[in-house]
Amino acid sequence: MSTAIANTLLEKTAGFSIEETLSFLANEYNGKVVFSTSFGQEDQVITAMIAKNDLPITIFTLDTGRLFQETYDVFHRTIKKYKVAIQTYFPEASAVENLLNKKGPNSFYESVENRKECCFIRKVAPLTKALKGNEIWITGLRAEQSENRNDLAAFEYDAHFNIIKFNPLLKWSLADVQKYIDENNVPQNALHKKGFVSIGCAPCTRAIAEGEDIRAGRWSWESSHKECGLHQK
Ligand code: SF4
Repeated sequence: MSTAIANTLLEKTAGFSIEETLSFLANEYNGKVVFSTSFGQEDQVITAMIAKNDLPITIFTLDTGRLFQETYDVFHRTIKKYKVAIQTYFPEASAVENLLNKKGPNSFYESVENRKECCFIRKVAPLTKALKGNEIWITGLRAEQSENRNDLAAFEYDAHFNIIKFNPLLKWSLADVQKYIDENNVPQNALHKKGFVSIGCAPCTRAIAEGEDIRAGRWSWESSHKECGLHQK
C-alpha cells in the first residue's frame, strides 16, 4: 500500500457516488475491505449504505469495555435492523488486568501519558489486530470534525497501519449526516439527543454546549482534544 495507490483510487473513482465507490472497492479488494464503526452518526450512515447494497465489507467495532449502555443499545438495534454481523474486538484481558492492578480503573484522568496508555490497550492494539492483512479501511471521518482534518483526501495512505483509508463522508456537513439519518430511518445513539456529538468511552466523553467545538466533549479535562491514536488526524 502507498500514497500512489491512494492517488490512483482517487482518480479511478472520480465521479462515482459513495455507494458506487464502496461497491468498486468491495469488488477490487475482495475480502480485504473493512469498515470500523463506533456507532456514531457518520458510522451509522456508512453501515446503512453497506447493508443496503449487501456489500462484502467486514464491519468491525472496538469494544473497549468502557462504552455507554446507549452505545450497546444502538449496536444491538443496528445488527437487528440490517441483519449484519459486526465483528467485535476486545482488548487483551491480561493487558487490562495489568493496567488496573498497577494503576486502578481511572488512571486516564491523572495524566496524558496514562490516558494514552489506556487508549493504546483498549483501542489501538485491538485496531491493529482488526486491520491486519486488510488493504482498505473505511472510516467515518469528516473534515469539519477537526481543523487538522481539513487537508485530508477521500483516499489517504495511512503509513502507521500500512493501509489505504477511504473517508467517504469527508465533505459532508453534520446537517448532511442528519438528513440521511432522518430520510433513511437509520438507528442513532440516544445520547445524540442529549448533547453528545462525538461519542467514545463513557468516562472520557461529555455532552457539549451549543457553540462548543464538536470534539470538546472528548477528554475534556485535557487542554487539547487529541485523538486516541486510531487516526493520526
Ligand atoms: Fe481508556 Fe478513556 Fe481511551 Fe477509553 S477513551 S480507552 S476509557 S482513556
